[in-house]
Amino acid sequence: MTAQRTIVVKIGTSSITDDGGVIERAAIEKLCADVAALRDDGHRVVVVTSGAIAAGLPEIGLGGPNRPSDTITLQAVATIGQTALMGVYRDALAAHGLIAGQVLLVPLDFIVRTQYVHAGQTLVRLLELGVVPIVNENDAIADDEIRWGDNDRIAALVANLVDADQLVLLTDTSGVLTADPRIDADASLIEEIVEIDHQTEALAGGAGSARGSGGMASKLTAAKIAAWSGVSSVIAFADRADVVLDAVNGVPGVGTVVRARPARLPARKLWIAFAVVARGSVIVDMGARAALERGKSLLAAGVTEVVGEFDAGAPVEVVDTDGEIFAKGLARHTARDLRSVAGRRSDELPAGAPHIVVHADDLVTLPG
Ligand code: GLU
Repeated sequence: MTAQRTIVVKIGTSSITDDGGVIERAAIEKLCADVAALRDDGHRVVVVTSGAIAAGLPEIGLGGPNRPSDTITLQAVATIGQTALMGVYRDALAAHGLIAGQVLLVPLDFIVRTQYVHAGQTLVRLLELGVVPIVNENDAIADDEIRWGDNDRIAALVANLVDADQLVLLTDTSGVLTADPRIDADASLIEEIVEIDHQTEALAGGAGSARGSGGMASKLTAAKIAAWSGVSSVIAFADRADVVLDAVNGVPGVGTVVRARPARLPARKLWIAFAVVARGSVIVDMGARAALERGKSLLAAGVTEVVGEFDAGAPVEVVDTDGEIFAKGLARHTARDLRSVAGRRSDELPAGAPHIVVHADDLVTLPG
C-alpha cells in the first residue's frame, strides 16, 4: 500500500450536468468510484464540486433559454441545485460504504483568519472521521464583488487548507495543450509544467472553446496557487477511465502535471497574489523593488506614481519603472492619500501622514 496522502479533486459543472442542467448521475458515480478506490488505498479525499446553479435552474423552470443573467437570481438558484447535487453524491458514496459531508465556503473564509482556521479544522476532522467532504462555493452568501463563480481557486485554497499532497482538476480537455486542437491538428498534451509563467498562461488563452478557454485559464491560476502552496496538480480529462486514480498514481500521459514549488506561501498571501483582482497599481523605483524582494514593506519614498483610484485595503499591483509587475499587495491607504506622499522620505513627512504604502505582511512578490 502506498503512503497515505491527502488529495483534493475538483470537478466542474460541464462534467457532471448536461446542457439542460440535469445532473449526470453516471459522471458523479464514476468520480465516487475513484474516490472509493483512493480511500481503499488509504488516501484521504476532498471533492470540490460545481453544478449547483446548473442543476437548480431546471427545477424552477429557468433552464436552457430561460436562464436568468442576474447574479442574485443565480445565487438564489444555487441553493436549490445544491441539495439535489448533494443527494447524488450522498447516494453515490453510500454505494461504496462512504459518507459525504457538505462544506460550503466563500473567498472570505480564506482571508479572515478565524474562519480559515475553523474551516480547516472542520475539513481535517471530517477526514479523520473517514468522511468525504464535498465542497462548493457558498453561492447564496458569497459577496458578488469577490465571489469566484468557478471553483478552481476554491479547490486550490482548500488544498492549502488541508495541507494536501495533490490537487486533481478535472476538465473537458485532456489537459493543457500546445495549441487549440480545432485549429492545429498537431496540438499535443503538455505533460509537465515546472513553473507556470506568462508563456504557459498565453497557451491557456488560446486553447479550446470560449467555455473551455476560460476554464483552462482558471485551472492554471488554481494550479499556480497550489504550486505556491507546495501542492502539485494534475489537470486531466474528467471522462477518462480511472482518471483520478491514474493522476494520483502518476500514470504518464494522464494529463498535465504542474509541479509544486519548494516553499509554501500562507493562504492569505496566496489570496493576495492570485485570487483578488487589483484595483490599481503603484509604480516603484528599482531601489524599492530590491527592498521588497528582501521582504521589506513598501514605503512612500520608493513610489514614483500611483495609478487608478482605490480605497484603503485594496489589492494593488506593484510595478517597477520598467513596467514589470513583480509584486501584489494590499494598499494601506487610498490612492489619493498615497499620491500626496509618493516619493517623499518618511522623515520628510508630517506626523500622521501615511508612509507605509504596502506592509510586508500584505505583500507577495510574484514569479516572472
Ligand atoms: N458554485 C457554482 C455552482 O455550483 C460554480 C459554477 C461553475 O463553476 O460552473 O454552480
